[in-house]
Amino acid sequence: MKYISTRGGAAPQNFSDILLGGLAADGGLYLPETYPQVSAAELAEWRDLPYAGLALRILEKFIDDIPAATLQNLVERSYTADAFRHARPGCNANDITPLTTLEPGLHLLELSNGPTLAFKDMAMQLLGNLFEHVLAERGATINILGATSGDTGSAAEYAMRGKHGVRVFMLSPHGLMSAFQRAQMYSLQEPNIFNIAIEAMFDDCQDIVKAVSNDAAFKAKYKIGAVNSINWARVLAQIVYYFKGYFAATRSNDELVSFAVPSGNFGNICAGHIAHQMGLPIHRLVLATNENDVLDEFFRTGVYRPRGASDTWVTSSPSMDISKASNFERFVFDLVGRDPAVVRELWAKVDTGGSFDLNGTPYIARLADFRFVSGKSIHADRLATIRAVWQQHQLMIDTHTADALKVAREQREAGIPMIVLETAQPVKFAETIQEALGCDPLRPADFDGIEKLPQRVAVMKADVQAVKDFIVRHCT
Ligand SMILES: *Cc1c(COP(=O)(O)O)cnc(C)c1O
Repeated sequence: MKYISTRGGAAPQNFSDILLGGLAADGGLYLPETYPQVSAAELAEWRDLPYAGLALRILEKFIDDIPAATLQNLVERSYTADAFRHARPGCNANDITPLTTLEPGLHLLELSNGPTLAFKDMAMQLLGNLFEHVLAERGATINILGATSGDTGSAAEYAMRGKHGVRVFMLSPHGLMSAFQRAQMYSLQEPNIFNIAIEAMFDDCQDIVKAVSNDAAFKAKYKIGAVNSINWARVLAQIVYYFKGYFAATRSNDELVSFAVPSGNFGNICAGHIAHQMGLPIHRLVLATNENDVLDEFFRTGVYRPRGASDTWVTSSPSMDISKASNFERFVFDLVGRDPAVVRELWAKVDTGGSFDLNGTPYIARLADFRFVSGKSIHADRLATIRAVWQQHQLMIDTHTADALKVAREQREAGIPMIVLETAQPVKFAETIQEALGCDPLRPADFDGIEKLPQRVAVMKADVQAVKDFIVRHCT
């Protein structure tokens, strides 16, 4: 299996060669040359596999440069009942992603039972083990530099803590994350994890990461890498739970299901799109946005109009506060019949701050073949949905899951099960839970008192040179 760039200008690569990198050299994103197909016989055989077994069968179709036994070992170490132990009472942690039925034909697929209580763990846990393996094979090391407003940074740190050959330098906006999120990240004591709190906003943190990465000499000398949302292995790992959710919600492989996905960077739902392309019987992929509705606008109108950071709303589902969806190019590559010339033309506009309109092109008609529909949810919807689920089902859901559930209810069709992807636990967004329910969110037992643990964090001004100096000091 080789990987090609959506912009057509990079030589085909092996999986291990794209694992540690980000963008292709031509500025595009990597995708497999073709999507492997799943036969009816395979689908039947996979139905009863445990999570790690299923993950192995799917990953094998995309990875041919890691020996099977090694891959099996990496997968089994990533998806353990212990790492994903934070399941709802009554749910089986062995399932890794348990399915909770709200009412007949309406389900939650719990993707937030991992170490940091958000779905980013589903991919990051595997990424940590894949990175460690490939780096050891090559006798190489990497210094991961990232910026986070919450979920991604903690998932990356928990996945990479103690891993050989890997250091993590994670920038976060000083004082702007919740006390719980700060405690999650800053209380890690592993010597390969470095938290840097920048006295500025999240966007400033991201600008520093870009400035450091754009210094080619520094980047090469200090082996700077990333684990951001465009990483192909992250998308790949996420394909697995679409299959797992399908099997959990159906009795036979003749049935169709729909998935509702709270979306920001389009990474999660991109994995659903690929599962569909592989042959998983998906009826609809329901994309939900919050007030930042760039993607909803595209699927309703055919116009993709990304916005700048200053036009991005700060909302109560902050992990979806994104106005330029970094994985969207992967879907558009498929939509335009995998023609890199068309992608180059469209992204020439996006990359210079513009937009594109597919109306009047042949691609608009093909949107229907890809089964996407979309909708939007705002703060008042979120509060109402959290309250309704609490009253009707005695379940507490987080703000992102609430956005997806709101749109899922609008898009439900008779006879087709709807699976809502639950992407975080409510304890991460306590303020909004208080506003909706007047009480504190449930907290999984081993997070009791984490705010009181000693914290390890360097506080700095928004200064690129200061961050570089810090990296240099800690890389020897
Ligand atoms: C990252 C995240 C999302 C958005 O996922 P994308 O892959 O960026 O579309 C939704 N909910 C939560 C809780 C997240 O952390």
